[in-house]
Amino acid sequence: MDASICPIDAQFSDQISILLNPPIPLQVQEYFQELLAERKCCGFKVKTDGEHGKGVYSEVDFQEDEIVMKDQMLVGAQHSSNKIDCLVCSFCFRFIGSIELQIGRKLYLQGVSATDECGPSNGSGCSSGSSSQKTRLPRDIIASLMNGDLQLPYSEKFPLPPVVPCLGGCKEAYYCSKSCAEADWDSFHSLLCGGNGSSNNTKAILKFMQHANDTNDIFILAAKVISNTILRCRKLKAAHVQQLGKHEFLLKAWKPVSMGYKKRWWDCIALPEDVDSCDEPEFRMQIKDLAFASLQLLKEAIYDDECAPLFSLDIYGHIIGMFELNNLDLVVASPVEDYFLYIDDLPHSQKKEAEKITKSFLDALGEDYAISCEGTAFYPLQSCMNHSCIPNAKAFKREEDKDGQATIIALKPISKGEEITISYIDEEVSYEERQESLADYGFRCECPRCLEEEHKGSSSD
Ligand SMILES: [Zn+2]
Ligand SMILES: [Zn+2]
Ligand SMILES: [Zn+2]
Repeated sequence: MDASICPIDAQFSDQISILLNPPIPLQVQEYFQELLAERKCCGFKVKTDGEHGKGVYSEVDFQEDEIVMKDQMLVGAQHSSNKIDCLVCSFCFRFIGSIELQIGRKLYLQGVSATDECGPSNGSGCSSGSSSQKTRLPRDIIASLMNGDLQLPYSEKFPLPPVVPCLGGCKEAYYCSKSCAEADWDSFHSLLCGGNGSSNNTKAILKFMQHANDTNDIFILAAKVISNTILRCRKLKAAHVQQLGKHEFLLKAWKPVSMGYKKRWWDCIALPEDVDSCDEPEFRMQIKDLAFASLQLLKEAIYDDECAPLFSLDIYGHIIGMFELNNLDLVVASPVEDYFLYIDDLPHSQKKEAEKITKSFLDALGEDYAISCEGTAFYPLQSCMNHSCIPNAKAFKREEDKDGQATIIALKPISKGEEITISYIDEEVSYEERQESLADYGFRCECPRCLEEEHKGSSSD
């Protein structure tokens, strides 16, 4: 790294380079063996080789459509922009409350942002893109949906877990259960909660969050990783009777993250189409500056002396890069979609009766009535799976998968010993387009399909 703008990088350079040292294959294998044992996962194994790094290999035969694994995320977050559309548990990302609350809350928040954009009671000249088709409902109707006074027909067929507030009393995090609230508090949220019930520097936390929401919400994920590492480090210290050096605790707490990152964010981020290649150095510098600005706000909010190296720009860049390079979307389908599909499928007379009530809500919601919960997450096992343009598995949410875990299913029979592969990109496109998309991940694909098509291409020249 060049002469750093971040003093922590200079002060703790030795420790930082130890933390960023790539784990040796044996450590990787050991880590995943432990993880699989802890999760009682079987049927596959994570192996490393010098050439392709990590890979996932089956240890049994899988049938087509069979579940290969469910992968619990290490850390994840809903996109800030998606929070208007879906109210989900901040820990497991299940939809919470009720169908009525989901619909009422979305209509309410849409109304708030529409008023923000156009100024209050501006009757004319205001169309906000896709929402121009929507009809507006009276406020008291929306309120009665949200407070439970108004029940929609057949909504009892789609029960959701109750809304459990954050232990620190912030208005940012809600949960599906007390156990999720506690697990999130213990693992991430106790340091990042901006509520008055926490002992945090709430003003600084809110400032950090605001900056992330205004610029790039990937910073919130990075903050969760740092918070999680600090909390794990403290737990390890509290649990250990024998004396370990203070750096060893941090190294241990950092281990799950060390399995995931590859490059610094500003070095690996794909150049946007509208940025000319001669402006690339400046673009990368701007990204780095942005990360530094965010890091200073985070440091202000949750700095921990014992874990000081975590607040270096080098570490921050690697954490963010981990989310950039591992194409791991968090998606949970909306029960509101299922609800309206159910109404639509009712026998004619019942449907007509129900629609007397539901139609005005569907019209008010408009085309995007059933947006999924969307975010970014890091899945430790899925991220070990290598890419192929003829993959034998894929991440796929079935109807019963209602939380943020990744479900990987077999696309074709996989036999024992075979590598399990997924596609990182849309594999339906041409050889050249595939290689171009994969270049953003930093490799050239040499899967059987690519080798064959490359050969064809060069022989026809
Ligand atoms: Zn939950
Ligand atoms: Zn909170
Ligand atoms: Zn390929």
